[in-house]
Amino acid sequence: MHLRLPLLGILTILGAIYLIYWSLSVSISNFIFRNFSAVDDLRLIGKRRKGGKFQGVAVVSGGSISGLLAARILSDHFKKVVIVEAEEWLTTEQGLWDGIRCSPKKRYKVFQYTFMHCYQAFLGHALRYMFPDFQEELEKVGGKYVLSPNTCFQVISAYTNLTSEKRMATGPFNAQFSGIPLTHEWRTETPDIIFSTRPVLESTIRRVLLNSFSNVEYLPGSVYSLVRAAKSGPIEGVLVRKLDGKKVTLSAEFVVDCTGSAYSGLRWLQELGLRTERGQALDEVKETYNHNVLYSFCEADVPKHILKDLRPSGAYAGKVEDHAKGIAGFHYWLPDASRERQLFGIVRQENNILHMAYGAWGLSKPPKTLADLRDNISGLSLNEPVPEWAYDILDTLEKENVPVKFETVRMPPGVYIRYTGIKDLPANFVAIGDSVHKANAVRGQGCTKACIDAVTLNTLLCRTSGQTLPTGFSRRFFALQDKRTGAIWSAGKTEDYAWDTTIPCKGEDLAVGSFARTYMKYVGQLIVSDPEVTNIFMNVVHFFAPGLVLFSPRILRKVLRLWIADRWGKFRL
Ligand SMILES: Cc1cc2nc3c(=O)[nH]c(=O)nc-3n(C[C@H](O)[C@H](O)[C@H](O)COP(=O)(O)OP(=O)(O)OC[C@H]3O[C@@H](n4cnc5c(N)ncnc54)[C@H](O)[C@@H]3O)c2cc1C
Repeated sequence: MHLRLPLLGILTILGAIYLIYWSLSVSISNFIFRNFSAVDDLRLIGKRRKGGKFQGVAVVSGGSISGLLAARILSDHFKKVVIVEAEEWLTTEQGLWDGIRCSPKKRYKVFQYTFMHCYQAFLGHALRYMFPDFQEELEKVGGKYVLSPNTCFQVISAYTNLTSEKRMATGPFNAQFSGIPLTHEWRTETPDIIFSTRPVLESTIRRVLLNSFSNVEYLPGSVYSLVRAAKSGPIEGVLVRKLDGKKVTLSAEFVVDCTGSAYSGLRWLQELGLRTERGQALDEVKETYNHNVLYSFCEADVPKHILKDLRPSGAYAGKVEDHAKGIAGFHYWLPDASRERQLFGIVRQENNILHMAYGAWGLSKPPKTLADLRDNISGLSLNEPVPEWAYDILDTLEKENVPVKFETVRMPPGVYIRYTGIKDLPANFVAIGDSVHKANAVRGQGCTKACIDAVTLNTLLCRTSGQTLPTGFSRRFFALQDKRTGAIWSAGKTEDYAWDTTIPCKGEDLAVGSFARTYMKYVGQLIVSDPEVTNIFMNVVHFFAPGLVLFSPRILRKVLRLWIADRWGKFRL
């Protein structure tokens, strides 16, 4: 009896400790997902806020990817949404069915419109929530959602020195890291990925938006200023210069800046006399660094009769008859900064459109022909050379005289505008997409980032009620946006600082982020050897989980073990 009581007591205490530990970890995990990821907010799309729609007009400045997604969200919460877009043709029928690529002078404000674009699974998943018929409409113009069994997806990087499989096979979602096949489970039920050129993606979003949401309309013109009567009051309208030069005032109950790299929102707020919390000019909230990436891209429409010559190869693996079912291929060789500064990528988009990209940190000789490209990639320092099938593609395109057009660009510098540092922000002004944050585009995250911003806007609007936005709405939005997409900025910058040709942000040097770089080197080793880490990593890459989970105690412990083993090995020598 005496013995049993203490035993019972010990068991109760252990049980209580376990319960506390369990509920703490569940709460921390929920907190991290709620704040640092938008994935669990997708179910709020289409839900109405308490108190019905705002009766005024929401004005979206800029009608590209982020403008379209913002307008879709606002259509649920405002009686009317007006998208003001500077490029007139986007507001015409052609902007709804844009299958013509690479014609000169297209999208003079968005030069990358015709460049290679790839997307993370979050984007495709979210678009289904926003537009139930999106997949059907995308497929009408050849774009596709790719899921097993015809999915090929491959990421090869030089992080590890394990041997790689040289050829990608068709089969269920087939991701590889440094040539090592990765198996993982998704946090969501539909993890397929969109494969389509940017013109097809953007015009499809525009078409489904304008066809299905009658309270959204386009106005050709440029927003050039904001109207705010009281110093600390809301924005009352926007000033628009129409195409014929006439100036008009649009009254607005809500304004979203989606002007991309024009960063117009910051300028408009500056003109209204706003200052930072410390009383400085607004330039102070604009962080910028130059990664010095030179980027070259080419497109080929591969004729059907030579498809058989490209088989079996990465982008065109599988039987010819399977092509109609929509095989896609994505291969991206990202360099290890300790020994390489060039990248190479191949992606098969809608129909037989093939895109190839080459980029280099701090180099200045871009490939201008297929022969140049062959030379450049054969010199890449990777753990495994670029596989033969990639050269086969170049050879066949050359032999068959398939027209291939190269375009080269110096990638625009990275920019992050810290709106949270601005004093007296009008409650009814927000900015999303590139107008807030321009990441290094070699990582292809811009469209997903714009989408996460739009989903975040929806979440905060759903939490409001009544006909007046709470003061502080804008500040709350920018703070949550920073938690959810700010990691794209810090992680990208940390990687870019590994190259000595990067010019860092004002007040920083290239040593910033060295701890994170070392940490990620070990995570890279775990990705190919530890299924738990693979799983988490793939969900992070596709924005189904926040990057913070890569620093969870379980992964920290594994990284620490690798780090100690490394040090101990060196000590023994
Ligand atoms: C070379 C390159 C490759 C890329 N590859 C990828 C990729 O693979 N995957 C990916 O997801 N992202 C990629 N990106 C990034 C992606 O293209 C951008 O993130 C995306 O275009 C951002 O969309 P946005 O709507 O925010 O801005 P933008 O696309 O820049 O659109 C801004 C719009 O605002 C309009 N506008 C500007 N000023 C005004 C005004 N005053 N009034 C009214 N309208 C105005 C413009 O006409 C334009 O339509 C790449 C970028 C580059 C440079």
